[in-house]
Amino acid sequence: MQYYSLNHNSPKVSFAEAALRGQAPDKGLYFPEKVPQLPKTFIKNIKQYTKEEVGFEVMKPYIGESLPDDVLQHIVNETINFDFPLVKITDNISSLELFHGPTLAFKDVGARFMSRCLGYFNRHAYHHTTVLVATSGDTGGAVANGFLGVDGIDVVILYPSGKVSHIQELQLTTLGQNIKAIEVNGTFDDCQAMVKQVFVDADLIKKLSLTSANSINVARWLPQQLYYFLAYQQWQHDEPPVICVPSGNFGNICAGVIANISGLPVKHFLAACNANDIVPEYMQTGQYTPKPAIATISNAMDVGNPSNFIRILELFHQEFNSLKNMFSSVSISDKITAETIKSVYEKHNYTLDPHGAVAYYALEQYLSNQQQSLDKNALLDKGIILETAHPVKFPDTVEQATGKVVEVPEQVQYLLHQQKQSILMEANFENLKEWLMNR
Ligand SMILES: *Cc1c(COP(=O)(O)O)cnc(C)c1O
Repeated sequence: MQYYSLNHNSPKVSFAEAALRGQAPDKGLYFPEKVPQLPKTFIKNIKQYTKEEVGFEVMKPYIGESLPDDVLQHIVNETINFDFPLVKITDNISSLELFHGPTLAFKDVGARFMSRCLGYFNRHAYHHTTVLVATSGDTGGAVANGFLGVDGIDVVILYPSGKVSHIQELQLTTLGQNIKAIEVNGTFDDCQAMVKQVFVDADLIKKLSLTSANSINVARWLPQQLYYFLAYQQWQHDEPPVICVPSGNFGNICAGVIANISGLPVKHFLAACNANDIVPEYMQTGQYTPKPAIATISNAMDVGNPSNFIRILELFHQEFNSLKNMFSSVSISDKITAETIKSVYEKHNYTLDPHGAVAYYALEQYLSNQQQSLDKNALLDKGIILETAHPVKFPDTVEQATGKVVEVPEQVQYLLHQQKQSILMEANFENLKEWLMNR
């Protein structure tokens, strides 16, 4: 499988090269030259396969010759070695819980897959590669954990001091080994600006072999398809599900769309956004207008220019009508998000995190609109929300809504006894440069 740049001004590359480069030289996103078609018998019999077998079958065509089969299987096994339960909330809505990984976020899957791929592709390199990433909370933890102990790779994470939750900070700052956390006296935007400057600084580029663990990397984007296959393995109904994905950069839902085009049955995709409504607005008006990000309580989706949406357009060959048939998008306010956490907890005894709550409300509304427009005897759709983070990562919002303390799950309890280790830094590029040059 070869990958081309969506800016159409760079040579095609293998999976390995696309993963190592992140972005094409013309700054375009890499895109597979064709969407592989899965065997019909595989989809029909999917319940008979283990999740590791599903993972291998789905990923193999995208990897091509970049990884030997046994290495790919090993990477897949390590990537998904936790549970992905589909939990029924109501008769019509189930939650695919993607927060049972080591950092309690769905980003664990992409980060684990990518880190192991880069570790393999770098196995003969004489110099260490430095992975640099800015985080508003969730990405950093997943990336740090994914790369922990991977030979030949150093990870440097920048995070805004006092602006990530307690558990998130511990996840970033207590790992040690090849992971360094820089605590920036500033905002997430400051962190991101500092990282961007590193990638264009001639001295640093010369001295360090740099990579970004950005969500546009194909090695992070493509393995997210597995969620949708693992959900379908657990789906008990004849009609395919409507799938609602809380969306920020649109990488996750875009992976769902490519899974669907490669053969996975899905009725409809619903992208649930917070107040950052660039895509909902595009679906209404046909105008795509990036805006500065607005801060919300579902902050992992505070994105003002979703970088993966262009991949969704490519998957539908830029045809607005075929996109509209299969895909819709809505924007949900913070007020409704908090009310949804409260009402779902009270009515169904299920604790949503703010991102899952955005998706829940969007799906509930979609299904009930449909109910009103159909006649009484029509078969009603049922749907799945992707629950992308554990509620304990957003304790203030969740506890305020439910009136109950969220229990810290077992796999992160050890964190509470660890010592935070961070490097304090003012929000200024020269400080970061000096630190990187003298390490
Ligand atoms: C990153 C993230 C999202 C958004 O995913 P995208 O692929 O960027 O659309 C949603 N929820 C949580 C908890 C996240 O960390």
